[in-house]
Amino acid sequence: MRPALLHHVHQLSDDDLPAYVYDLPGLREHARAIRAALPRRVELLYAAKANSDPHLLHALAEHIDGFEVASGGEIRHIRSLLPDAPIAFGGPGKTPAELIQALDAGAERLHIESEHELRTLTTLLGDRTADVLLRVNVPVAVRSVALAMGGRPSPFGLDPSQLDRCRHIIAADGRIRLHGLHAHLASGLDARAHLALVDQVMGWADRWAHQRGITLTEVNIGGGMDVDYADSRRVFDWPAFGIGLRRTLERHPDLTLRIEPGRSVTAYCGWYITQVLDIKFSRGEAFAVLRGGTHHLRTPAAKRHNQPFEVVPDDSWHQPWTRPEARGEPVTLVGQLCTPKDVLARRAMVNRLRVGDRIAFAMAGAYAWNISHQEFLMHPHPTFHHVDVPDAPVEDAHAFQTA
Ligand SMILES: *Cc1c(COP(=O)(O)O)cnc(C)c1O
Repeated sequence: MRPALLHHVHQLSDDDLPAYVYDLPGLREHARAIRAALPRRVELLYAAKANSDPHLLHALAEHIDGFEVASGGEIRHIRSLLPDAPIAFGGPGKTPAELIQALDAGAERLHIESEHELRTLTTLLGDRTADVLLRVNVPVAVRSVALAMGGRPSPFGLDPSQLDRCRHIIAADGRIRLHGLHAHLASGLDARAHLALVDQVMGWADRWAHQRGITLTEVNIGGGMDVDYADSRRVFDWPAFGIGLRRTLERHPDLTLRIEPGRSVTAYCGWYITQVLDIKFSRGEAFAVLRGGTHHLRTPAAKRHNQPFEVVPDDSWHQPWTRPEARGEPVTLVGQLCTPKDVLARRAMVNRLRVGDRIAFAMAGAYAWNISHQEFLMHPHPTFHHVDVPDAPVEDAHAFQTA
């Protein structure tokens, strides 16, 4: 944790905990670096569902080309914060009311998921126009990844056999402009695997377009860039990805590529700060019970990983009994919920962990608070903090110890 953030963590009172602390300069720098690694003919959208915190969206807006939204709620949210930001409306199960909302909001793309959805759109357009991509479940071999959305039977996107019918509906309607195809097929891909997938998608799309005498001008290759929770320094290799996409673009002079990552953009800027309430030993194994839990940070339960963390020691201890602690041993960090699933990190090695010490869980900026079952057990919600200062004096860094 960089010094300015750590400084903020020290300023928090126990009553402020648990707390989400967001690093806005860190997010801006990360987004700037992603943008800089991409060729000009790649448009960068941010998938708002990963984290739609208003401060994060504002920080991102200056570095990206727009937002991918997947509900009427997200459309309303983005429009209220950023009235002019381009939005692309995707996701399965769009209701007629949401389609109207997207048209009213001036969505610059609709990602069509089915023939029925397309036909519904034609009944809602009136004298308006719509700009669409057809989302396809491209028949590619997606190797085993965290979440596969395509390349096998899936509720997402159109079966390739449906594409021609959709093209005909679009051609007959006259108000709908087909810009190209959309293929978000998998999550958890490193740069090399993602580029291999892009090659497969483009190979298929080229044949498809060629057989129909169409020039492809736009393909959205989705998000799903990997975040490695086991090693926060191993970030997705954006420079290598940019080089690979540049090669694809060189073979396609008329093509604009779009990407719409979520997790890989905001995961690193969020921290969940909590505190050790109790330490106990059960049949020889150490457990630390923390304020809060997976109802605030569901990510480790959802992804079945250990959430990375740092220990922020707190030396104040005013009780007459020995302060409970674990030393140089694996500790399982659990929350306050009455379920064995409330585990944030299992058997993680710590040098020393005491009741009252604070724990800063890293990589809590995406699919964290907003995917959590926040009302389960009715504990207080975390407090939220947005640190927007560069690093504070370095002496603050000494207070901190790595788990
Ligand atoms: C969720 C989603 C994304 C973002 O995925 P990440 O894994 O967060 O990068 C992009 N596009 C679509 C269609 C999605 O459903």
